[in-house]
Amino acid sequence: MSGFSLLSGPIFGNESAKESLKTANPGLQPDFHDLKTPEEIFGLNQKAEVTFTGQKTVLVVAAHCDDEVLGCGGTIIKHVEAGDKVHILIMTDGGGDVRGYKLERSHRLKDLFEKEAEAMAAAPAWRNAHKAAHLLGVESLQIHELPDSRFDSVDILDLAHLVEAAIDRVRPWVVYTHYGGDLSVDHRRINEAVLCASRPKPGHPVKELYFFEGPSNTEWAFPLTFQPQKFVGINAGHKADVMEKAYSGEMREHNHPRGRMAILHHAYDRGSQAGLVGAEAFMVGRIIG
Ligand SMILES: [Zn+2]
Repeated sequence: MSGFSLLSGPIFGNESAKESLKTANPGLQPDFHDLKTPEEIFGLNQKAEVTFTGQKTVLVVAAHCDDEVLGCGGTIIKHVEAGDKVHILIMTDGGGDVRGYKLERSHRLKDLFEKEAEAMAAAPAWRNAHKAAHLLGVESLQIHELPDSRFDSVDILDLAHLVEAAIDRVRPWVVYTHYGGDLSVDHRRINEAVLCASRPKPGHPVKELYFFEGPSNTEWAFPLTFQPQKFVGINAGHKADVMEKAYSGEMREHNHPRGRMAILHHAYDRGSQAGLVGAEAFMVGRIIG
């Protein structure tokens, strides 16, 4: 019997993606038409279509090392390219032992990221976060040592004070943080703490507050309530590259939400919802202007 075979032709996507799906679905014959990667369709160096203007100070508050890239890595890059100053605050180093290094609560400035990352061979989460900060081009990075996955055991006031201290130091105009409906209790508590610390009192610096989504977290919560109103056009390939270079240990197979394919497809899906190519999506907490 002759006929068209899904297993032939030049339209296949990348080999590792096909192998990953075959392994995950033994006995199934996936439709390889779907496996053409967005990078193959759009090209590797697509530019974000809409550019930011003006200079703003931005603070990203994330529970864990990697949330800052997964949630708004593409947007951070875009801010930096526009000349904005971006600072990152991460609330836990993952609970791992940082042998030989006392993690100070003081922040690290740009020049120190790379140097410290090289020296901290025994502290993978630190090293990775420093590398990500360097790749993203941010101004400063601060990592606290709260107990991973146990933020419900930390007083909300203590969490809010840590965020307030960063806000006092940085005086950000824009703040990005977790969505309050995520599955992770750490994410939910950080959302609450940032809301507390960003109360719009007279003279408060924060004028824009946005909540990002986290793959393998936001969509795994129930009910799914993340309904974005803000879409930022990004270079999805660039974001996935930062994840792979800094946080390869947090990446998963292609059909997991933290797989490269899934990260790319999610960005292109978000883009398609707003007439863009790749995008990150946010819920709007507050805009004052
Ligand atoms: Zn997280």
